[in-house]
Amino acid sequence: MGRESLEMDVVFVGAGPANLSGALHLARLVREQNHAVKSGQLQGKPLGEVQIAVIEKGSSVGAHILSGAVMDPKGLVELMPEFVEQGAPLESPVKEDHFLYLTPKHAIRSPITPPPLVNHGYYIVSLNRLTAWLGEKCEEAGVNVFPEFPGAEMLYDGSDRVVGVRTGDKGIDKEGKHKQNFEPGIDLLAKVTVLGEGVRGSLTKKLIRRLGLDEGREPQVYSLGVKELWELPDDRYPTGRVIHTLGFPSDQWTYGGGWIYGMQNRVLNLGYVTGLDYRDPLIDPHAEFQRFKTHPFVARLVNGGKLIRYGAKAIAAGGLHAMPKLYADGVLIVGDSAGFLNAARLKGIHSAIKSGMLAAETIFESLLADDFSASRLESYERRVKESWITPEMRRYRNFHAGFRHGRWLGIVNAGLQYITGGRAWGILDRDHQEPGHEAVRKLSAYGYRGDDPAQRYKDLRFDATLTFNKVTDVYYAAVAHDEDQPAHLHVLDTNVCATRCAEEYGNPCQRFCPAAVYEMADVGNGHRRLQINFSNCVHCKTCDIMDPYQIINWVTPEGGGGPDYKGM
Ligand code: SF4
Repeated sequence: MGRESLEMDVVFVGAGPANLSGALHLARLVREQNHAVKSGQLQGKPLGEVQIAVIEKGSSVGAHILSGAVMDPKGLVELMPEFVEQGAPLESPVKEDHFLYLTPKHAIRSPITPPPLVNHGYYIVSLNRLTAWLGEKCEEAGVNVFPEFPGAEMLYDGSDRVVGVRTGDKGIDKEGKHKQNFEPGIDLLAKVTVLGEGVRGSLTKKLIRRLGLDEGREPQVYSLGVKELWELPDDRYPTGRVIHTLGFPSDQWTYGGGWIYGMQNRVLNLGYVTGLDYRDPLIDPHAEFQRFKTHPFVARLVNGGKLIRYGAKAIAAGGLHAMPKLYADGVLIVGDSAGFLNAARLKGIHSAIKSGMLAAETIFESLLADDFSASRLESYERRVKESWITPEMRRYRNFHAGFRHGRWLGIVNAGLQYITGGRAWGILDRDHQEPGHEAVRKLSAYGYRGDDPAQRYKDLRFDATLTFNKVTDVYYAAVAHDEDQPAHLHVLDTNVCATRCAEEYGNPCQRFCPAAVYEMADVGNGHRRLQINFSNCVHCKTCDIMDPYQIINWVTPEGGGGPDYKGM
């Protein structure tokens, strides 16, 4: 069966806030230019019809979108100044801000909220809902939005110029054979392809490597956010209250912190971030979150409530020095795929929106000049540098790196940076960061005997009331994948699993995955082999990041598969 090609002008890969904002802004710029030329306000030729497409691997726009989230509205105000009147789904303005240090038994309230975490004037949002709403605005503006279309491969010409993207095939069984409903993916050809696939995008990762876009940059470092929504029986936690925590349950060598946000209708949004550059190989970010809930302060808040949703997502925490070059011939990188996140403020939606808008302005200029070369698209990076994104990220450029030296030195470093405008330890322009798969130590370095998690989590029980195991939590992520398809988690050498990895790290994939995808199954005679329960996967990308041998490759599954993060 032949593969179809479809010619578009611009293809945005991934329907997140960055790409949807970019597509919407571009559609408007084109419409305004056409109108201005036709009405004689502007000299020159109208651009005419410009075909813009957004493709999305999820079953609907927003299905795979998960964030805390307290949104700084700065980006949205620029995209749509009348966003409130336009019906943007906002949970609540932030009404109270608190910062707590948790010891194992007590919650100590800080007399001041650290400046990066002051959230007055911001909004608590469900990013899933906000994204779905942006998708509707795009469609109203004439953008073609295609859910269930994963970007499977970049298309290049003979000179390594990006010329579009190939979408994933449908209807392939687990043996790799065509099923009756087989449909080959489409080659979407585009003058410019914009990668906004989210954190550790599978196409972005390959593009960066192929074109060396990370040359001279610090390695990207990540955290994993694990989150639940709870329905409370009463009004004990007001809508609009925001709490951030530091301390329990993370140890001092592990970057981590919690959040508790009050949403509408007595829904409590709580989660825990664990730095994916932890050292202890027995760390399990899902277990860290479950322990967070056992703290007396948190347990009291959810007591008598009901778990309603679960999700997990990696966060790019490396900051300005870890961002790749943002352009090449025929391609731009926006949003989380490029690392536009301010880890100190725990915020990236505003910068993601702005990056999408700046990409749109660059593409608009390229369409007018009919030039899509790297030298023309370079102006995107210049725009980013001249916008408010860069000063904000510069100010916190060494924030995460300081925590390599432990929690307390990390805090000292954060304070010095605040005073010196971002200098690490008050003097260095740039501190070094260690990628997570290199940071994790071997079992022997921690004195562990084998991989029994009880050596770290001996006090943790899953009681199905306050604490839940991974399999139960995955049910609340509404994950669905057709099981008769090839696994989308490619382990390049499974011989390592039962031998070297078992001895050195105790198969950490069983712990860092928050969805019980990886399991060392007993196959008799004392032997074990890796079993991949890929249908549980919540697309958080942690395995691709944290596998110590870097032999796990996350690729897109058949379109429509994955979690459904409604209301998250
Ligand atoms: Fe995340 Fe990988 Fe587990 Fe999927 S398999 S949930 S991407 S860690």
